[in-house]
Amino acid sequence: MKISEIFAFLQEKAPFETAEAWDNSGLLVGSPDAETAAVVVALDITDDVVDTALIGEAKLIVSHHPVIFSPLRTLTTDSIPYRLAREGIAALCVHTNLDKATDGVNDCLAKQLGLQNVRVAADGMSRLGELPQAVTAAAFAEFVADTLKTAVRVRTGENTVRTVALCGGAGADLVLPLLDEADAALTGEVKHHEWLAVPQGKTLVDGGHFDTEVAVIYQLADWLQEAFPSLKVIVHRGDTPYSTIKD
Ligand SMILES: [Zn+2]
Repeated sequence: MKISEIFAFLQEKAPFETAEAWDNSGLLVGSPDAETAAVVVALDITDDVVDTALIGEAKLIVSHHPVIFSPLRTLTTDSIPYRLAREGIAALCVHTNLDKATDGVNDCLAKQLGLQNVRVAADGMSRLGELPQAVTAAAFAEFVADTLKTAVRVRTGENTVRTVALCGGAGADLVLPLLDEADAALTGEVKHHEWLAVPQGKTLVDGGHFDTEVAVIYQLADWLQEAFPSLKVIVHRGDTPYSTIKD
């Protein structure tokens, strides 16, 4: 099928005009008129992901993170956008519009945690929801680590957690204000001053950027497979771009 058909489908699921002004979502490399029989779905477009596309004869990669973000000052042969263009592989990036979308990044994270009564926060991106039952803050942090299968960082208010605010990726600035109403917040990146800003008696958990977002690529793959049954959908999960030495 044509890449423009896949774009139109994703436009329905996660309208591109809802992306943040600073974002760079959309068809960033390639032609809407090109045809592809296969698509690779990934969180980031790395060299490994391009290799997966070449092996699977996919002429399209759908990623969450934009392959071109800051202004492109060079286009050298070792850069990924150059490689994509040379190989005739298009890049369709669904970033902050997918964070906000129904069943997008943050709904997937809420679903993983089994939150109930999930609602969109006033920022349009974060979600609020309740755990099926109240747990201690320490138990909540451990539950997040078990569910996301990753090491987490936590500042615990030694409180009881029932209402949870969350935003996958770099969302500490968004979830911190939600601690007014939530007992605990979960995001993927927390800066030093953001840890210090956790109100007393509240809990903040950093589950890592990759691990708080990666579930969405399986949702993207399901959407695409359902909408385009003849399309070969290849999920490239990858892993965190770092390892943890000491917890
Ligand atoms: Zn992200």
